[in-house]
Amino acid sequence: MAKYVYFFGKGKAEGKADMKGLLGGKGANLAEMTNIGLPVPAGFTISTEVCTYFYANKKTYPRTLTGDVAAALKKVEAAMGAKFGDPKNPLLVSVRSGARASMPGMMDTILNLGMNDTVAKGLIAKTGNDRFVYDSYRRFVQMYGDVVLGLKPVHKDEIDPFEVIIEAKKKERGVHLDTELDAQDMKDLVGRFKSAIKEKTGHDFPEEPMKQLWGAIGAVFGSWNNDRAIAYRKMYDIPESWGTAVNVQSMVFGNMGESSGTGVAFTRDAASGEDMFYGEYLMNAQGEDVVAGIRTPLPISKLAEQNPPIYKQLDRIRHTLEKHYTDMMDIEFTIQEGKLYMLQCRVGKRTAFAAIKIAVDMVGEKLISDRDALARIEPDQLNQLLRPVFDLKEKEAAVKGGRLLAKGLNAGPGAATGRVVFNAPDAEAWRKRGEQVILTRIETSPEDIKGMDAAEGILTARGGMTSHAALVARQMGKVCVAGCSALAIDYGTHTMSVKGKTIREGDWISLDGTTGEVIEGKVATRPSEVLRVLVDKTLDPKDAPVYRQYERIMGWADKYRRLKIRTNADQPDQAANAVAFGAEGIGLCRTEHMFFGEGKIGPMREMILADTVEDRKKALARLLPLQRKDFEGIFEAMNGKPVTIRTIDPPLHEFVPHEEPAQRELARQMGITYEKVHRRVESLHEFNPMLGFRGCRLGIIFPEITEMQSRAIFEAAANVQARGIKVEPEIMIPLVGNVKELAHQEKIVRRVAGEVMKEKGTKFPYLVGTMIEIPRGALTADEIAGVAEFFSFGTNDLTQTTLGVSRDDAGTFLIPYVEMEIYPKDPFEALDRTGVGSLMKIAIEKGRSVRPTLKVGICGEHGGDPSSIEFCHQINQNYVSCSPFRVPIARLAAARAALADAPAKGGKTAGRAAKKSPRRR
Ligand code: PEP
Ligand code: MG
Repeated sequence: MAKYVYFFGKGKAEGKADMKGLLGGKGANLAEMTNIGLPVPAGFTISTEVCTYFYANKKTYPRTLTGDVAAALKKVEAAMGAKFGDPKNPLLVSVRSGARASMPGMMDTILNLGMNDTVAKGLIAKTGNDRFVYDSYRRFVQMYGDVVLGLKPVHKDEIDPFEVIIEAKKKERGVHLDTELDAQDMKDLVGRFKSAIKEKTGHDFPEEPMKQLWGAIGAVFGSWNNDRAIAYRKMYDIPESWGTAVNVQSMVFGNMGESSGTGVAFTRDAASGEDMFYGEYLMNAQGEDVVAGIRTPLPISKLAEQNPPIYKQLDRIRHTLEKHYTDMMDIEFTIQEGKLYMLQCRVGKRTAFAAIKIAVDMVGEKLISDRDALARIEPDQLNQLLRPVFDLKEKEAAVKGGRLLAKGLNAGPGAATGRVVFNAPDAEAWRKRGEQVILTRIETSPEDIKGMDAAEGILTARGGMTSHAALVARQMGKVCVAGCSALAIDYGTHTMSVKGKTIREGDWISLDGTTGEVIEGKVATRPSEVLRVLVDKTLDPKDAPVYRQYERIMGWADKYRRLKIRTNADQPDQAANAVAFGAEGIGLCRTEHMFFGEGKIGPMREMILADTVEDRKKALARLLPLQRKDFEGIFEAMNGKPVTIRTIDPPLHEFVPHEEPAQRELARQMGITYEKVHRRVESLHEFNPMLGFRGCRLGIIFPEITEMQSRAIFEAAANVQARGIKVEPEIMIPLVGNVKELAHQEKIVRRVAGEVMKEKGTKFPYLVGTMIEIPRGALTADEIAGVAEFFSFGTNDLTQTTLGVSRDDAGTFLIPYVEMEIYPKDPFEALDRTGVGSLMKIAIEKGRSVRPTLKVGICGEHGGDPSSIEFCHQINQNYVSCSPFRVPIARLAAARAALADAPAKGGKTAGRAAKKSPRRR
């Protein structure tokens, strides 16, 4: 016969902790606590299978359930020495929901059940406390009326009918607080509540305890499908099929006088992770009083003074629970007339800081293994250790005070506060005079790079997670909120309006790049310890406890991961940061960003505007030494680690000015006419530059560009090698869809490599490979791998071209698409495994079929996204490449992916642009 009811009490339970599927979290943990000898009031759990049956059978129960419940109730009565419904020695129970996953406050609860007029009299005789009894009675009738009999208001602006009655009573008695009502008042309320029930439902309040019990059981099962619970399940992906269990448990009372009380606690500080008992309690109170906020609860440390024996017992339980569950637990307890009872325990929710500290500490305490610790830290939580954060209290006050202006995409995590400027030159100038600025743009382009670098944070009104602003900010380690469409930015007046407010140039705003919030005014920030140790080098690790936690986590991650971690960097300082964070190479150096550096944009523009090959070559000759210097800086910073350098990729019009005054200035500098500049810029115009004259197409039509870039790379390599530093350049050709494109470019690269080695009388290893970022490239990867020595997935473009969705303009429909679950997440943030992922698999399979040693990486923004990294591990890539500040996150994500692959064995597993163009980099 199927077992539906599980008893717990008197040190023995039929269930245990790993039966959450059947008993729900609460039921399983009540059973477990009973089994390990903690004082748990006896009770029983009706399993989730009954919930499933209930919904599959028109809200009826299995035939045997009535008998099972009656039998379990008898056991509870025996354990507690009291009888349900007995007028002399009554047992009261609570009836609570409990699903497999915690769904706090979503379903229903009924307390003090079993109460009626005769039971109340019996309880008064037993306790001598008529106020307590009638208070419990009126609470019960109210809860029962609300939950079981359906009197609870449905709409927010309706008032609970019982609250109306209480208010009237208090008015009559001339008091303000419920606690000021006496026993007679409470008794009176019970009567009035019952009348209200009769009036609203046409039925008498059920006096018979068994009838009450079944009513409550039905209501709790019914609450699995209330609107709140359904919405919560959707939000947290909890399947409807799980169902809830129902826990029926003997009541204990924290409101029986001054030797009684109730509280909630965490076995460690849930905010800081500190190993200290953390919680609060109230004497002479019931659970809801602690959370209701009417009376101020006391810190748990006070209990040590107020009731030392109970505190000691509770503290022992705290340690027992942590040892037993090997985790930080959240507990609820009640003291009834000097006796302690445990009412609930579950794994405690915690901040990212606490999660990290607790995991590291618990490894130190030998409670968990390093693998467990890695599994318990979400990679993105590391952001909290790396980035500046707001003072939480200040931020909360700002939001409560109505200073939240808008919310955009959380494109670059961390906290930044500064004065608003609306263009990059202003950002630079203000910064020079010592101001902290937030660069606020409709969108950014490569021209804005220096202003972005000067700013504390970047805010844009347009653009997605792979927009120029987003990816450059991440590469620089800047805070960034992108695509904040609520902002109406007016460059002309240097203002932006939002929520009916006008923010002017120079006004202070604050950005939370971790949540996407934009806040009016200043909010204090705190710099990260890890950065001060690793990057600024202003802090000694021995004075940096948070850094030491970080270091241990990274050490464990490196022990288990198989994927190598590289970085996307195009400046020596970015490369150095990434190395400090543990990067093992550069996976993408976008050379075009270098053209905006000191002295380079002039010759670059000359090159673009040149009419003849000769003129173009002249301009390129001026660029050569400048690029060579850039590459030398990068090789030096990487000190022998592999460096993948991509030849020029963006459409050329991104490098030339589009406004008349700037074009006139350029004409003046070049000694040519404005008309000529204007005409040439116009001729570069494309309707769809993303699919236009860019990528390897540039180097094929203008081979002298590839030639110059190759020469700059190889001469730099030779020079740096001559200084005793190992070099490992990897030349990467972008946007290849046809092997002939790659073969064309490879020929140039290899010729120049040979020439340079000959000229310099030296030799160095180098590779030539390609980005796989358009579907044809993936689909013909076997042909391409005949030439390419490595592949790097450019998943920004590959997502764009596979989905047919522009990486910058998609906000209007992509955000609703995600809300409508057409895509589970923004596909530019988390890889679309089914679509884009299939192309990646095909590319690897085909590529390695002709070149088994083919090295495969990823350098799109997905290379820093934990779920995408897991996928890269699964499809056997060699490395992922991400922005410097995501390197630690990628290390952890790669380790978790490896551990998920081989959980038992452990150890290493086998294995841009001008306004016209939407192109962003
Ligand atoms: C990509 O397309 O994923 C990529 C890395 O190149 P970019 O973002 O520069 O187009
Ligand atoms: Mg690309």
